[in-house]
Amino acid sequence: MSLRRELTIGESALGRPIEAIHFLPPSYARPRPPAVLFGAIHGDEPVTSIMLHQLAQELVEHPPGRDTWIIPCANPDGVAAGSKNNSRDVDLNRNFAAKNWSAAHQPGYSPGQTPEDQPETRALVSLIERVGAHRLIAVHATFRVVNWDGAGRALAEEMAALCGYPASGDIGYPTAGSFGSKYGVDRGLEVVTLEVPYLDIDEQAFAETRTALRWAVDLPS
Ligand SMILES: [Zn+2]
Repeated sequence: MSLRRELTIGESALGRPIEAIHFLPPSYARPRPPAVLFGAIHGDEPVTSIMLHQLAQELVEHPPGRDTWIIPCANPDGVAAGSKNNSRDVDLNRNFAAKNWSAAHQPGYSPGQTPEDQPETRALVSLIERVGAHRLIAVHATFRVVNWDGAGRALAEEMAALCGYPASGDIGYPTAGSFGSKYGVDRGLEVVTLEVPYLDIDEQAFAETRTALRWAVDLPS
């Protein structure tokens, strides 16, 4: 059994708690930089939240090999409303203080008034800074692909091989102010964006990616 605790790392704009599940590896495991995994930063991708709860359930019996933080739902107001953006209609994955953050945007992709002015973004950022996370896994839906930024290439390729999805270093459209831009491109951390099927028929998304997710929290490095 691993040491598991649940805590609140922040609040959404409407006051919903943003929950994290923290697993400490068994005491015999070699210390490794912490991993942070999060889902549902886009509220219309609830499958990602379900999957990360399933992963957390599994890690109770089969502990991870490194300090692991799971935030199943980074945008609880969006999930409650069934909308991609948060309750202020900001696309949280354009709100990070990356060098390429820009106030200019396509309709529906508001990056906020200033970088990291949204409480949901700040909750994730402060956790990552506080624990010194080096391995960062963002789970999104619709495509079956494993994308990487920064130092995430090797991990993305390993995870892609395990789930049978393609690995890609470029998702094909600009992502100013994105999580990957800040932590991968700007900071050179190990950032992987795992995209799973949108519809979770028979828990298909977790079934397809389970081994890859386990690898991400178990792999010695
Ligand atoms: Zn998304």
